[in-house]
Amino acid sequence: MKTAPAREPVDASALRELRAIVGADHVRHADGDVTAYARDATPLFHARPDAVVHPASTEEVAAVLRLAGARSIPVVPRGAGSNLCSGTVPLAGGIVLVLTRLDRILEVSGDELLAVCQPGVTCAALADAAAARGLLYAPDPGSRSVATIGGTVATCAGGLRGLKYGVTRNYVLGTETVLATGEVIRTGGRLWKDVAGYDLTRLLTGSEGTLGVITEVTLALLPAPAAGGNGLAYFPGLADAGRAVAAIIAAGIVPATLEFLDAKCVEAVERFAGLGLRRDAGALLIFGDDGEPAAVARQLDRMAELCLAAGAIEATVAGRAAESEALLAARRCTLPALSRLGSITILEDAGVPRPQIPAMVGHIDAIAERYDLTIATFGHAGDGNLHPTCVVDAGDDEAVERAHLAFAEIFRTAMRLGGTITGEHGVGAAKLPYLAERLGTAQVDLLRRIKAAFDPAGVLNPGKVGS
Ligand SMILES: Cc1cc2nc3c(=O)[nH]c(=O)nc-3n(C[C@H](O)[C@H](O)[C@H](O)COP(=O)(O)OP(=O)(O)OC[C@H]3O[C@@H](n4cnc5c(N)ncnc54)[C@H](O)[C@@H]3O)c2cc1C
Repeated sequence: MKTAPAREPVDASALRELRAIVGADHVRHADGDVTAYARDATPLFHARPDAVVHPASTEEVAAVLRLAGARSIPVVPRGAGSNLCSGTVPLAGGIVLVLTRLDRILEVSGDELLAVCQPGVTCAALADAAAARGLLYAPDPGSRSVATIGGTVATCAGGLRGLKYGVTRNYVLGTETVLATGEVIRTGGRLWKDVAGYDLTRLLTGSEGTLGVITEVTLALLPAPAAGGNGLAYFPGLADAGRAVAAIIAAGIVPATLEFLDAKCVEAVERFAGLGLRRDAGALLIFGDDGEPAAVARQLDRMAELCLAAGAIEATVAGRAAESEALLAARRCTLPALSRLGSITILEDAGVPRPQIPAMVGHIDAIAERYDLTIATFGHAGDGNLHPTCVVDAGDDEAVERAHLAFAEIFRTAMRLGGTITGEHGVGAAKLPYLAERLGTAQVDLLRRIKAAFDPAGVLNPGKVGS
């Protein structure tokens, strides 16, 4: 069973109705105005929308969806467009519905440890508002300064703190969501304990704009940790770093940060940012923790010792907060650093069980060599989430084709090692070809039936999960 994709174009009368709903200034359809919305942060995928619509309220979103449903016009919800899986590329044309005007933080409650906000609020703005009240919004994607709460909920974004704090789904208490029919539902709420009915909040989290448009989110907050710090260790190779990761976890430490960069990433970061990293090592591990100051200092020293015992060439703990931030900056600038090596940077996302990381990176290197490609790998050593990143030149179609083949092998290798095709970026159109291999056909059919129950006309983000 497949949901039939909606494919009617946005004609002059639909444009008139859209203008009546959101105001003429908030509907764009001229080429120059919509081509920017043909792409997101995923290279290689693009498709021009017929119109770009910027609603400012739940009612406007509902009216747009009613119109789209009645006319079989595809609708692609979009936050900042920073996703890396082509989730907002309007493959069937239609309307790109941009949620960034819904950008208010409605409440930050210290009593209830929660925040209520609209979907267009950036992750960083929410984290800052929480921090100002001594609270922590834990999800921490590298794109936090631009990525919206709506987008991070819809992709179930992860980030640097996944091992200790979990990912976005661990913090979504409730949503207000507009269904494809224009009906508005409230899922979950403000309660930590609430098991009334199927858990639609979890289902919507990670649904990638295919089941509904999220117009409000209630998110759990935590008390902000009193202190935090980071350290780094250089290893001859990733196998040694893998041993250190295993030793840290076995010692009962759950670090707030445990990130690795292979030698190619370190070289690129150093050339890009000149942070003074050693270039003679095979792998770099950045470890960090937060909590009470004395406990943090103890854990960082212990992690440095465990790294040295596992074969690190050097392991140091940042002495000052600024040094500690610089270490995280090294990790956060990996993508821009790699981007300078070629005109197209294909940043991918695969996950393996933690002990398989060294083997997986070995396979990635072998695959890169076989396909004659530059693929550097960095990622979250704590949760097994890897980001193999390939740089190619835009004009080199043959190299792009080789990159596709190489990534197909990388995803299949991850699955063979007991892993997954995406740990945090989502499926979008980019990973859809591999979804049945990951989940099996019975489960993919079930996803399609769920999609059809939410979106009978197939208007929401066609060509993605559930299609
Ligand atoms: C430099 C860089 C670093 C990154 N680092 C990380 C990282 O550490 N961890 C991580 O997980 N990701 C990361 N990403 C990927 C990306 O930032 C995340 O996927 C993020 O969640 C996307 O948010 P967005 O607002 O840009 O959403 P968009 O890209 O606009 O949309 C993403 C998906 O959500 C849907 N959507 C958006 N808003 C809504 C809504 N209100 N209702 C329903 N559906 C909606 C869209 O249809 C689409 O399928 C990174 C990207 C970049 C470019």
